[in-house]
Amino acid sequence: MTFHVLTLFPEMIRQGLDTSILGRAMDAGILKLNTVNIRDFSTDKHKHVDDYPYGGGAGMVMQAPPIYDAWRSVAETLPEKKTRVVYLTPQGRPFTQQMAIELAAEEDLILLCGHYEGVDERVLEEIVTDPVSIGDYVLTGGELAAMVVIDAVSRMVPGVLTNEESGSDESFMNGLLEYPQYTRPEVFHGRPVPEVLRSGHHARISEWRRQQSLLRTRAMRPELLLKEGVLTPKDRRFLQSLDENISKNE
Ligand code: SAM
Repeated sequence: MTFHVLTLFPEMIRQGLDTSILGRAMDAGILKLNTVNIRDFSTDKHKHVDDYPYGGGAGMVMQAPPIYDAWRSVAETLPEKKTRVVYLTPQGRPFTQQMAIELAAEEDLILLCGHYEGVDERVLEEIVTDPVSIGDYVLTGGELAAMVVIDAVSRMVPGVLTNEESGSDESFMNGLLEYPQYTRPEVFHGRPVPEVLRSGHHARISEWRRQQSLLRTRAMRPELLLKEGVLTPKDRRFLQSLDENISKNE
């Protein structure tokens, strides 16, 4: 899969993504990163890419022409089918694991990083297919958000994670948060690893982990439990038994 990132700070994107698992996948050719500097498409002699907002107000707005030309330079090299263009914006749809899975099916993905006060609306209307937000807060630029999206999508591209690294139990993969994890030493600051995990009894371990996932999700993200298809009848019985114990103790 190839990520084409339209940005004013290509080195930030490259440096942020060339280590560890993603660096390995790029070396292996499973992932490709094509950074395009929007400033290279400025026709202004000072290489400006932003200007004052019409109507007044604080800050500067990224101009449409250099962004459009940067996008076209990439789009022209791709097959005719319209490649999806993700614009990173706090006004976009909230990014989720489900979106990461969906986007990982694309062969090419174009990501547009805004900066300053944002981007001239007209170019967004023309080229963007997917406005995406990484959360309800405002960053100074779209680069960190693009890296978040690229990282999460890359993990879902076949071959990027080894079998050992990929976990179907991972948070959000089955609609729940993952259970707690432990490694050596067996006792840390007087806290032993839960006995069940040392028992070697796979069925018990599996049941314990499922229950821990349920407990954790109920404590941190109870709304996830309400989604259709997340809970099995056994999960429901377990959660009900907790509620009954609580009301008995009240
Ligand atoms: N004026 C814009 C608004 O109020 O919606 C915010 C502009 S922000 C300072 C500059 C750029 O950072 C945006 O164009 C976008 O690319 C990026 N950005 C900021 N917050 C983001 C978020 N939560 N998710 C994704 N991108 C974000």
